[in-house]
Amino acid sequence: MNDALQHPLFRRIGAIADAKGVQAFVIGGYVRDYFLRRPCTDIDIVVTGSGIEMAEALGKEVKSHVSVFKNFGTAMLRYDGWEVEFVGARKESYRADSRKPIVENGTLHDDQLRRDFTINAMAFSLNADSFGELVDPFNGMEDLERCIIRTPCDPDTTFSDDPLRMIRAVRFASQLGFDIAPDTFEAIGRNKERIKIVSKERIITELNKIMASPVPSIGFELFDQSGLLPLIFPELDRLKGVERVGKHAHKDNFRHTLQVTDNVARRSDNLWLRWAALLHDIGKPRTKAYDPKVGWTFHGHEVVGSKMVATIFRNMKLPMNEKMKYVQKLVFLHLRPIILSEDTVTDSAVRRLLFEAGDDIDDLMMLCEADITSENRDKVKRYLRNFELVRIKLREIEEKDRIRNFQPPISGELIMQVYGLKPCRIVGDIKNAIKEAILDGIIANDYDQAYAYMERLAAEQGLTKISE
Ligand code: ATP
Repeated sequence: MNDALQHPLFRRIGAIADAKGVQAFVIGGYVRDYFLRRPCTDIDIVVTGSGIEMAEALGKEVKSHVSVFKNFGTAMLRYDGWEVEFVGARKESYRADSRKPIVENGTLHDDQLRRDFTINAMAFSLNADSFGELVDPFNGMEDLERCIIRTPCDPDTTFSDDPLRMIRAVRFASQLGFDIAPDTFEAIGRNKERIKIVSKERIITELNKIMASPVPSIGFELFDQSGLLPLIFPELDRLKGVERVGKHAHKDNFRHTLQVTDNVARRSDNLWLRWAALLHDIGKPRTKAYDPKVGWTFHGHEVVGSKMVATIFRNMKLPMNEKMKYVQKLVFLHLRPIILSEDTVTDSAVRRLLFEAGDDIDDLMMLCEADITSENRDKVKRYLRNFELVRIKLREIEEKDRIRNFQPPISGELIMQVYGLKPCRIVGDIKNAIKEAILDGIIANDYDQAYAYMERLAAEQGLTKISE
């Protein structure tokens, strides 16, 4: 038997369908991922009848709670780590101003016609007399073998009806390493303006899948080539281009950014580190200036860029939480290891970097190494060698001074208590001076030395103790 259908639920669903006199199929992503040997935990079942009734009958048999979404005519149950969704076969038609279709009952063929791509429109029959038969009216199998994304119907209609499908085409190309068929791709260019009717939430779900794919640049290159990029990610679009004055030209920051993102993606699955890579130079267009002596400069782009992160996250409906702060922090700090490695690597500079980066120091170092995209091999070698020095120094200082997640050993409360002070500027100044002295290596990161240093500073201010 077809081993895609070993799952114990499939025979049960087939038997229920037989008893009800309807047809049932497993369709879409499950079938595609089975042929691609990709892991999959979602099963979509389509029924020529009521999907909700079928789910309820199965839920009773396997004693599983069924969630019913009456408005959508769908139902879902969880079973043994699987999420199984049921829907009645349907025919869809669209109005111009919405990607919400008008839905009527239909045949399996109607249902396959409403699917986005041929590789997502294949179905296996579950009824006993045809169990395991593949129903593939649009040659999805052939497209899978040839690694092609193609719409089952006229691509202009498919994309105009539901413009999210344009982003999904790019997502599948990036995720699976497939090509988009030329006529399908051209239709994206013609329908790109329609993307405006799609919600930000839908777009970001797909963008995150592109970010999580093995080579994220594939997706962003396709957005650029199709004309979608300025519509969905204008800040990234503005990184494009090279300006030249005399012998001075700067690099194309869009291509550079994609290269850095791919470099990070090769080494880490951390989605937010990948976002930090994508946004690390996002402040460059706003800070670009030309100086006839040195050429193009982007002074302060890390500061401007880290501020832009919050706006971009808000606009794109990315989470405004500690993930956003992490991306901001990495963008803000992304030049520091390079500056550090170009100079003599002093203990105090390393201590400061450790203090500011905290537990994210390893991610920051990975981002900075990924940021070296120069064609000049000697330069790359020199940077990497210096980074190695920075890493060694980081380890040494970390072992010696425990600066990562550093909390100053003398608190403001203690200063107030010892000198009988109310909260005031002088308390903050003393606390800060102690922190600076530790980071500069003037005193060690321990209580006794910090206490003695506090006494010295307080004496200079003419303060007298009221307790020890
Ligand atoms: P993944 O599991 O990687 O997220 P998927 O496409 O398999 O991708 P869903 O987004 O849950 O997962 O979609 C399930 C199926 O529903 C698809 O395989 C496709 O047949 C169909 N589908 C999903 N979205 C659309 C759409 N916008 N237009 C047409 N068909 C769609």
